[in-house]
Amino acid sequence: MDTTSPVPPAGPLAGLLDGRTALVTGAASGIGRACAEALAGAGARVYVVDLAAEAAEQVALRIGGVVHVTDLADPAAVDALPDDADIVVNNAGLQHVAPLHEFPPERFTLIQRVMVEAPFRILRRTLPHMYRRGWGRVVNISSVHGLRASPFKSAYVTAKHALEGLSKTVALEGAPHGVTSNCVNPGYVRTPLVERQIAGQALAHKIPEDEVVERIMLDRTAVKRLIEPGEIAQLALWLCSPHASYITGASLPVDGGWTAR
Ligand code: NAD
Repeated sequence: MDTTSPVPPAGPLAGLLDGRTALVTGAASGIGRACAEALAGAGARVYVVDLAAEAAEQVALRIGGVVHVTDLADPAAVDALPDDADIVVNNAGLQHVAPLHEFPPERFTLIQRVMVEAPFRILRRTLPHMYRRGWGRVVNISSVHGLRASPFKSAYVTAKHALEGLSKTVALEGAPHGVTSNCVNPGYVRTPLVERQIAGQALAHKIPEDEVVERIMLDRTAVKRLIEPGEIAQLALWLCSPHASYITGASLPVDGGWTAR
């Protein structure tokens, strides 16, 4: 199989989500943007939720979505988001790399707020709508770091493991109401979040950026390339299809074999 070829567009899934509304957090960039585009391409009306106003507006314009410029670290702002989503993609996230004994507590708290509390707050308000309609899809963009730890990423690893627990609990509570909840667990995806890490590591280790990717990031993966955001988006879209209605409470690695070790 050619693992370098670009992901094909939704194709057979076009029209799948006509009449559905999706809320995607962190939809202005990277994986979230790709998810928003894929869901809109399949017919969903998309709430484009992000802190980055200009980029979010551009995405919404392109896909005919509705922008919500929201700081997910602000509980009141999160609670003001629409509660009528049939699909929620909890995607927004951020990273901070530091040894635990030097990790700034306020960064730790911020990461839990954005990556754990905001998904909880969004779901507690949107699940009643899904239950009323007897259908809902929750896609949590977790990470290999929801399944495995790495040093110096304590806040991120903690938050992703918490998201895994939240996702499984929602799966159990949502099943009688036609709601599934799953985690998607990517390895390193080619997005601004990872590009910033590559630049940081190159500086720290005094090595070129392509060596950071090959020697550090892809060290554990069997498939020696970064993932493209569209590949994650296609899995998120598929999880919203009828073929995936029996898949719930699962964590689906898209990691080129990282967790096979
Ligand atoms: P990205 O930096 O490209 O995009 C993240 C988006 O989240 C940005 O648009 C940003 O503005 C938004 N965001 C951050 N903080 C916010 C806040 N307080 N309020 C509102 N929006 C906020 O990152 P990405 O790589 O696309 O990551 C998306 C998700 O995928 C994250 O949860 C990340 O942990 C996860 N993930 C990424 C990778 C990877 O390699 N890129 C791997 C595994 C998991």
